[in-house]
Amino acid sequence: MQERLKELQAEAIQKVTQAVGLKELNDIRVAYLGKKGPITEVLRGMGKLSAEERPVMGALANEVREAISTKIEEKQSELEEAAVQAKLAAETIDVTLPGRPVKVGSHHPLTKIIEEIEDLFIGMGYEIAEGPEVEQDYYNFEALNLPKGHPARDMQDSFYITEEILLRTHTSPVQARTMEKHQGKGPIKIICPGKVYRRDNDDATHSHQFMQIEGLVVGENIRMSDLKGTLEVFAKKMFGADREIRLRPSFFPFTEPSVEMDISCKMCGGHGCSVCKHTGWIEILGAGMVHPNVLEMAGYDAKKYSGFAFGMGPERIAMLKYGIDDIRHFYTDDVRFLKQFAVEE
Ligand SMILES: [Zn+2]
Repeated sequence: MQERLKELQAEAIQKVTQAVGLKELNDIRVAYLGKKGPITEVLRGMGKLSAEERPVMGALANEVREAISTKIEEKQSELEEAAVQAKLAAETIDVTLPGRPVKVGSHHPLTKIIEEIEDLFIGMGYEIAEGPEVEQDYYNFEALNLPKGHPARDMQDSFYITEEILLRTHTSPVQARTMEKHQGKGPIKIICPGKVYRRDNDDATHSHQFMQIEGLVVGENIRMSDLKGTLEVFAKKMFGADREIRLRPSFFPFTEPSVEMDISCKMCGGHGCSVCKHTGWIEILGAGMVHPNVLEMAGYDAKKYSGFAFGMGPERIAMLKYGIDDIRHFYTDDVRFLKQFAVEE
């Protein structure tokens, strides 16, 4: 019996040593130490032993059980530790893997154009002025020499909120407000970028909401030649030093005389193509000398002060500069369109 127990101990310990998993180890535990195991079996035969032998055998059986279960515990912690190590190894960050690209947004092409124009004029000593998009009829029209009933008001179909309040149709009310603030004293040198609204049906070249940038200079001895020089610097910096400009007579109620500025067509070099409608020139902006009525209404002495103003559409500038064929691209938030402008950042 003693030998049988020793045998069982050796056998169990060998199996435990060779065990490769926690499940196998548990199976060994149940097989050797369980109620149906061989050690229990041996102990059941103790009844046949003499009174002297019994305690000796009992002690030995306990020793064997103890030895086996100690070995099992050792093995168990060994296996558990190995499992933790294996898990850690599996979860190690592999620095050789290529990273996942993080998607980065970019400036909207209109924002970029507006900032470029702003920088250009700030470089020439201009300040940026802003005003409300929900505007009074007075600043949007009347103060700009467009009294009620003036036919030119029809050129700018407006979104009226009340009889006297509307969504501004141009950024010119910012000019009127700025002149009023100066209380008849110059000089003023501002550009006003912002959103404007008109009741237009949206198509490739029209949008009911679009951007404008206007400029205003008021001072003593401001002449048409100052306007022309300013616009020439702007056109060459914006579109390239090789571009020519020309001024054509035009009409705006708030300027007199009024002009429109064209730049020479880059596509054909002035020879005529479909982009310039075979004229060799592309219209860029409207401008003129501030109408004396506008100056007087803002409190300026039109005999002492003069000024010039110009206004342009950043969409049109961006369309020409980047070759965009539809104004709606700016407002439909198509990422495929927008991300083309991310590369220059
Ligand atoms: Zn052309």
